[in-house]
Amino acid sequence: MNFVYRVTPTQRLIIVEHAIKQMQAFAQHRRWDREAGGVLMGRHLLDSQDIVVDEVSTPQDTDHRGRCNFFRSYKHQQVAHQRWLHEHSTSAYLGLWHTHPGLDPTPSSVDRRDWENAVANDVYEGSRLFFPIVGTECIRVWTKTRRDAIKELVEVRRVHRQPAGKGEAQE
Ligand SMILES: [Zn+2]
Repeated sequence: MNFVYRVTPTQRLIIVEHAIKQMQAFAQHRRWDREAGGVLMGRHLLDSQDIVVDEVSTPQDTDHRGRCNFFRSYKHQQVAHQRWLHEHSTSAYLGLWHTHPGLDPTPSSVDRRDWENAVANDVYEGSRLFFPIVGTECIRVWTKTRRDAIKELVEVRRVHRQPAGKGEAQE
């Protein structure tokens, strides 16, 4: 099942099951699991404003991975570019994901700087990038445009059972 988030009143972000599974495979369930991450790849739908994440890049041997930090190497951009070539220029770079130890992720100041940097300097279609963080219990997604501050997206359809009392918004 796909994860669906509200971006604006007329736009949704859809992360397909394959991409969710790719990211969840690196969730830091064990004490010695290190942070992982990569780039999001997918499509801007033509018949709506929706954006679909089809696939993510997974850790590369050139990344630096610690328990509580992750430095993404340039190789992820090459993976995204290869996919873009392979898919006849229909696969777009949509943002960056990484894991956090702990149940429910919140971005660190390093994360926020990294995201601001990406939005300001990376090459992408559209007006915004997306930034999922994968905790051991949930995935939260933030977004940023060139103009607006970082904001968290509201999930509109949840697949997995939610622990009680997390205050998830529903529509
Ligand atoms: Zn982080």
